[in-house]
Amino acid sequence: MNTSILEERKTSISHHRGSGLCCERESVAGAVSQRACVYCGARVVLNPVTDAYHIVHGPIGCASYTWDIRGSLTSGADTYRNSFSTDLRETDIVFGGAKKLTAAIDELMEKEDPAPKLIFVYATCIVGVIGDDVEAVCRQSEKKYGIRVIPVKASGFSGTKSQGYKLACDAIMTLIEPHKNQPKRFGVNILGDYNLAGEMWIIKGYLEKIAIPVISTITGDSSHEKLINAPSATLNIVQCAGSSSYLAERMSEEMDIPYIKVSFFGIEDTAASLLRVADALDKPELSAKARQFAAARTAELLPIIEKYKPRLEGKKAAVFVGGGFKAISLIRQFNELGMKTVIVGTQTGKRDEYEIINSLVGEDTVVLDDANPAELERFILEKQADILVGGVKERPLAYKLGVAFCDHNHERKRPLAGFDGIENFVTEIHKSINSPVWKYVKGGAV
Ligand code: SF4
Repeated sequence: MNTSILEERKTSISHHRGSGLCCERESVAGAVSQRACVYCGARVVLNPVTDAYHIVHGPIGCASYTWDIRGSLTSGADTYRNSFSTDLRETDIVFGGAKKLTAAIDELMEKEDPAPKLIFVYATCIVGVIGDDVEAVCRQSEKKYGIRVIPVKASGFSGTKSQGYKLACDAIMTLIEPHKNQPKRFGVNILGDYNLAGEMWIIKGYLEKIAIPVISTITGDSSHEKLINAPSATLNIVQCAGSSSYLAERMSEEMDIPYIKVSFFGIEDTAASLLRVADALDKPELSAKARQFAAARTAELLPIIEKYKPRLEGKKAAVFVGGGFKAISLIRQFNELGMKTVIVGTQTGKRDEYEIINSLVGEDTVVLDDANPAELERFILEKQADILVGGVKERPLAYKLGVAFCDHNHERKRPLAGFDGIENFVTEIHKSINSPVWKYVKGGAV
């Protein structure tokens, strides 16, 4: 297979560690990027607000992106599992859709019990083209009903998925800004964890064991009430830096809440992150507790790593995930297992994250920003990867190539974060790579 690389894409692919890589730019037209659109980026961040109503102002197709294709869990309301759409048609495109949006909000206020307290209105591609005044409709509805109705002007074509993250962070700031002068309480907010398969609960449990209170979670298992408490926290910890660093920056500047970046994937990163959170709170007793807790959990996991390592050592992994922080943790996890990461790609990685990636991988690892399926196929075959770690869009590619696959995206049903997720991750990688099925697949990697 010799799939040629588009000329405009060549600077987004690095074949040798340290060579320059272009990132944080728009996708090349016609390259069939694996990235999601601006609206999807915004929806990823806001969807786990469990008691919010999410109205998609656009054609019905955009509304297909809903709870069903995310795995975020709730301990309270399940309103977020529904998707509401204004279902714009041709006549609305010609005459405008603002009246339909007003009617949709009125209908929710009339029919839903209890009545909504918080509505997010996503304006998708066509609304950006026809220019409905979504902000005015939201403003009028806020006034009429005395609730929060927050516009998210997320036309899919207006930038990259990262732009959607930023719009969602702005929407959260719009919600919490009026509550910024409440008294401070000792405790942290967790930003950028979406409670996939209950991962937020796992991390929250660790922090509570170390006696670190969690004030608010943004946005995994969050609610209107929990979100407006967020300005009272003393520290923000940022799990998914790609989606939430901008929110942390704004909260630091406008609410005086410092932040640190963390990653709860893999033994090394989970242990280090717990210690960094405790250290940042500047209480020696918490640091001691964090060290003790991390050491005990690490000791429990080492025999599991040792058990599976002989069956995984020397295998080659390809990684294509949303953000750089997860790719970094995955490379470290594969290193712990004696595996080599031969391909690393992200949808929205940042320059500093690619620098860390380069420092962790071998000389000949291929690093790609904003890859497309043809590029992934070419390098998976060229590097003879044994497993691809990615999301729902990458799964069919791996199976068609006869390569094992591990789902590390938002659809997964098993937690992979924290110490609890490590055994799940290792056993999943083992079962997938060492499955006898690959022997029967033409062109299979085994
Ligand atoms: S690209 Fe546009 S039309 Fe497609 S899902 Fe995104 S917002 Fe909707």
